[in-house]
Amino acid sequence: MHVSYQNANPRRGNESTILRFTDGDAKAVLLVDSGDGVDLDSLLAADEYLNGVLLTHAHIDHYRTLGKNVRHNAPVYVSPATGTILEHSLSEARKDNDLGDVDAVLDSIEPIGEWTPVLEGLEIRPVPAGHTPGAAGFLVRFRETFGPKGDDVASIISDERYILVTGDFTTRPCAGFPPLPTSFPVDVDAVFLNASTNETTIEQRNEALQTILERAYGGSRVVVAASALTGVQYALLLAAIAAELDRSLSITVVGQTARVLDALDIERPEIESCAVFDRPSDVLEAETVTIAGPDSPTTGSAKRLLLAIHDRPADAFVQLATDDSEPISNANCSTYAFRSDNHPSRDELDEVVRAIAPKHLVVKHASGYRLDTFQRRYDRCFTWAPDDGVSRVLYEDGEWSKPGWISESAARRIRHRQWKTNGDRPLATDDDSMSLLRQPVDPDAEGVDVDAFRSQFSGSVADPYDDQVALTDRDDAPPASETATVPETDRFEARVFGDGDGKTLLEVLESTDFSPGEIVEVSLSRPAEDGDSSENRDGLEQSE
Ligand SMILES: [Zn+2]
Repeated sequence: MHVSYQNANPRRGNESTILRFTDGDAKAVLLVDSGDGVDLDSLLAADEYLNGVLLTHAHIDHYRTLGKNVRHNAPVYVSPATGTILEHSLSEARKDNDLGDVDAVLDSIEPIGEWTPVLEGLEIRPVPAGHTPGAAGFLVRFRETFGPKGDDVASIISDERYILVTGDFTTRPCAGFPPLPTSFPVDVDAVFLNASTNETTIEQRNEALQTILERAYGGSRVVVAASALTGVQYALLLAAIAAELDRSLSITVVGQTARVLDALDIERPEIESCAVFDRPSDVLEAETVTIAGPDSPTTGSAKRLLLAIHDRPADAFVQLATDDSEPISNANCSTYAFRSDNHPSRDELDEVVRAIAPKHLVVKHASGYRLDTFQRRYDRCFTWAPDDGVSRVLYEDGEWSKPGWISESAARRIRHRQWKTNGDRPLATDDDSMSLLRQPVDPDAEGVDVDAFRSQFSGSVADPYDDQVALTDRDDAPPASETATVPETDRFEARVFGDGDGKTLLEVLESTDFSPGEIVEVSLSRPAEDGDSSENRDGLEQSE
């Protein structure tokens, strides 16, 4: 077997790759992802046929050119969940993007969950990859046959070789979809590693969730603008956190997010899905989180809902952007923006390479200087990180080829370290690590600091409804009239707002001991004209 690879869009996202497998007269060409700028018309030789596309996940930067590149009846292999998601998201995405022949893509989609033959002696299977609902990497397995020696047919040895294509990944689950395994039941020889990293993924996620919960438990109407897949992840995380806090939380997902949630058969009692709504007020309610797309509210449900709360200071608009687009700044409601691309940190990336310990590492989804920094980062494998579109031989004559720019003596050192590492590296004992099945969402496992949320949001008096139930249910609870004895009273300055709809809102201008969500009694008075009568100061009186 002869194996080569070629970057398909090195000047754009550099996430797409062509793999060529040649065995005698038989040849297979696989395309991994079909992102921005991939043009098979120019990449395939006149006598080459596409045998399949390995599409890792349903993010548009990985499938934007798929509709121009499907051909030769080649299947587009995806995980079952990604197949389901694409059925709903492609027709939506084509409205705002030139996606080529979307119908041809839909006809070509072939969801797979197990080893699937592409050619005699060449098979593929998806493995989970975290990152986003449905995301998968792929294992590629090819058989190498040695011999026979002379006429000795019994001397024929057949052996298997494995390549792992990670796609975008995380080593944490995402919305319950399992993470990229770092231990496989087979020896992975070569890894195509997507090297997009983000050091603030977990921090931003916790800040975003904290803001959403603070505002929702504080009584606001909260609109979260996110892509459909991020919206699904946040809806499930919020529901799981509320369950851990033992507090109720209403979450409404609308539009495309609702369609994807329903298509994936995901149900939670906290989450109501409402694909179509007539009026924004149908899906907006105090103490409720409403999740809508897209992440940039210039169109669609997110735009409609932003317009509905735009002039209401008590409401909150939270943007979960997948890129660095400018956050909304000119609204009267509170606005927040968090980055939410769910890529691993550099440490997580290193851990994957260390744990899998491949002989060869091909670095993808990075460019320029970032790509260069990987060239010498790992000293136990041959690292390929070219930024061009040249086709390179990875394996031939029964051997993995060393990159041309590595000297023989350096190659010997690397092979020696590899041999030492591989001696004590355990392999997974079964196929469980490769299961694509969605698990119940575990917020801790997805990087959520549940303990911090517990100390901020649970217990105390934060939920007035829960308190009433607790007090009346308990046998030893004093009668209600006794519990409501001496009220806590204080005076504060407050500013009056109108919400544009006849409702009056107050912003207390000092810090108080009251918690968001508490019910307080308020008596209002205007400050005295002369300004120094304490009786008539601008005040807001609160009592529990
Ligand atoms: Zn992605």
